[in-house]
Amino acid sequence: MPAINFDLVCINCGGSLRGIELNGDCPQCNSRVGNTLNLDVIDRIDLRINDDVLCVGCGYNLRTLAVSHVCPECAAPVLESLHPSELCFADKPWLRKVRMGVLLTIVVVLIVVVRILFWFFYDNYLTTGTPSQILIRFTSLIHLLNRVIFCLAVYLATLSDPCPRGMIPSSFPRWIACIGAGILLLYGAFFVILNFLVADYFAFFTSYNNFMMAVYILSTCISCLTDVCLDICLRRLAVRARRVHLRRLTSFHIFLCVCTGLVWSCRLIGWSQGGFVSSICMLIGNLSQLVEWVLYPVSIIMFFLYYRMLAAALAGKR
Ligand SMILES: [Zn+2]
Ligand SMILES: [Zn+2]
Repeated sequence: MPAINFDLVCINCGGSLRGIELNGDCPQCNSRVGNTLNLDVIDRIDLRINDDVLCVGCGYNLRTLAVSHVCPECAAPVLESLHPSELCFADKPWLRKVRMGVLLTIVVVLIVVVRILFWFFYDNYLTTGTPSQILIRFTSLIHLLNRVIFCLAVYLATLSDPCPRGMIPSSFPRWIACIGAGILLLYGAFFVILNFLVADYFAFFTSYNNFMMAVYILSTCISCLTDVCLDICLRRLAVRARRVHLRRLTSFHIFLCVCTGLVWSCRLIGWSQGGFVSSICMLIGNLSQLVEWVLYPVSIIMFFLYYRMLAAALAGKR
């Protein structure tokens, strides 16, 4: 294991780490060298970068450069881009924004659950089969409000790390998630407008004509895609915080989201079609209720764990 042959200052105490081995500790405070330097991306033999690392100054890919060199594009020391990628070393204002985004996603899921319970238990929907006009208007407005919060939540929770140390930031899932949340907000607005335009909204809402069916299926697919992309962005944070269980839980959550999207689409096709297709689709579609009842508690637990993880990263705990 080679020793550090360049000036390196311990991130914890500010003492010099020159002459210390890569797998060693700071002589002053016993903090691991790995806390100061991202050892995951450095070749242990020749001290060169062996992975895609973007310069924090200009975004140039520093792969193959020696750790002691400077960026050929902007002359920032390569070392500045080599802080560990772990979350507790990340930019604090960014972590705070992401944590706020995750908190808002919890609010969104809770509102959805409360709205469903309210719909089923509060009004006379269960006994008469037709909810009152007030209930419909009220829930559609809550739905719209929830979509506004969801837009803000997705925007904040998927913000790109301003200093992506040792990581190539991929903005693709972020943009899909943000655009998806925006379209879902338009959907929310569409249903509120419809509510005030159509006299018997409930009959229209449940008429399952071709137009409404296309609207429902499209919104189900967009909702599914948005959730999956949000999960992909969050899952990267779990990887950076080395939370293996949370990473697995997120993969399971992605699986549940895709299942919900598929079975809901089947259910909707079942409603709109007749005969044999309908029976098969309805059979598959009835699973959707089951998957959804699993999805909501898993969502709440998962987002709560992300919130705790980000709070721990902000507090500097490892
Ligand atoms: Zn130290
Ligand atoms: Zn640079």
